[in-house]
Amino acid sequence: MSTHYGQNRQYPLSYYAATSRNRLAFPALNTDVEVDVCVIGGGYTGLSSALHLAESGCSVAVLEANRLAWGASGRNGGHVGTGQRRSQYDLEKLYGRDMATKLWRAGLDAVALVKSLIERYQIDCDLQAGILHVAHKARLTAHYQADAKLLEKHYGYSNARFLTREEVCEELGSDVFHGGLQEADALHLHPLNYALGIGRAAHNAGARLYEGSRASSYESDSRGVTVSTTNGCRVRAKQLVLGCNGYLDQLEPRISGKIMPINNFLVATAPLGQEMANSLVRSRQAVQDSRFVINYWRTSDDTRLIFGGGESYRSSLPSDIASLVKKRITSIYPQLADAGIDYAWGGKLAITLNRMPQFGRLGSRIYFAHGYSGHGIPTATLAGKLIAEAISSRSEQFELFAALPTRAFPGGTLLRWPAMVAGMLFYSTLDRF
Ligand SMILES: Cc1cc2nc3c(=O)[nH]c(=O)nc-3n(C[C@H](O)[C@H](O)[C@H](O)COP(=O)(O)OP(=O)(O)OC[C@H]3O[C@@H](n4cnc5c(N)ncnc54)[C@H](O)[C@@H]3O)c2cc1C
Repeated sequence: MSTHYGQNRQYPLSYYAATSRNRLAFPALNTDVEVDVCVIGGGYTGLSSALHLAESGCSVAVLEANRLAWGASGRNGGHVGTGQRRSQYDLEKLYGRDMATKLWRAGLDAVALVKSLIERYQIDCDLQAGILHVAHKARLTAHYQADAKLLEKHYGYSNARFLTREEVCEELGSDVFHGGLQEADALHLHPLNYALGIGRAAHNAGARLYEGSRASSYESDSRGVTVSTTNGCRVRAKQLVLGCNGYLDQLEPRISGKIMPINNFLVATAPLGQEMANSLVRSRQAVQDSRFVINYWRTSDDTRLIFGGGESYRSSLPSDIASLVKKRITSIYPQLADAGIDYAWGGKLAITLNRMPQFGRLGSRIYFAHGYSGHGIPTATLAGKLIAEAISSRSEQFELFAALPTRAFPGGTLLRWPAMVAGMLFYSTLDRF
């Protein structure tokens, strides 16, 4: 497995890279170009921005340091949840009902957008319906019941259903959970094939995509933005979109202190056979538990369990991801003690202090969205569309997200790690007790 975040022309070895159906290769930028919009980062944020900008008639160049969807967009759990990363209950407390309602609608719009892009561009990405949230502590079932009631009563939404302990046991073939909340409108998919499908659509719409082209710096003045790459070429543009998320590093210090990159891990077991796979998740929905460092899983078409869990906060990935994640699997499914692990990988995502995304502008020319905190498939896809709308005219939903208050991590870009790591370790220890 590659643990390098430098300039990388290979995808890290993962189940997704091994089963990618949409092989695309784009050249590195080898000359100076001039476009309306330069996008840095070829994940969901950057590719969805490029697609929507190109469709609205802008000329666009995407600079991706490695390969398209080389970052979190090609490595994640594939869960496409409704709403936001925080529950509606939390959002009402944080921002009031009016704002919470707008955010709820934006969350539904995001899932609908993912679905419509897949349909419109015929993206072959193993799309399936449903996510089941399961409570690892009995007292948490009350939250799920309250969430389902709140959604029904105040949002007129009846597709979130509370499941009893017995129903969850029956669905999962595991008796460690105490109840659950089923999101019927949520989805799950093959994240790399989904991202590459958006990349192909952006390319067909006229966006120029450059791989192996790392932006090293940029300058902005009254006439536009000039982006320099490590290959010694430049992109001159009227606007710039930053879609680097967990891989932003020091490219834009004015915003990097508001996000924290963390590593998260996944494995794919060897094929388990249809009978065993069916017994682990009867209805093939995706599953997430209620731990602070959540476990999340689903089964694949070829009967593997794709299971995610565990975090680390260093710049490189640990070497023993397979054994770290296997322990989590067998704590839920002891029957998989002998199952082989064929693939183990990890990736970086960016979280924010309040786990809500950060959207915004720097001056009038630079747009950014990041910090999706594990909810990036729908939100980053939507972010790209909203950025495109905000650049071409005005977008109410872009302004809605941009208005969410975001605090920097204590300690700024240099010292945020020690405080955050202590906090994360504290809460992840609570998971165990
Ligand atoms: C293990 C894991 C599991 C996850 N599970 C889920 C899940 O189940 N559901 C969900 O909704 N979300 C999940 N997420 C989060 C989700 O994957 C991300 O929020 C989403 O992919 C972010 O997309 P992005 O385009 O903003 O960033 P990324 O996909 O990370 O893309 C950023 C890109 O920018 C490029 N880049 C960085 N700097 C430069 C530069 N200077 N020049 C050029 N290119 C640059 C990088 O190479 C990278 O390809 C998970 C994340 C991880 C890591």
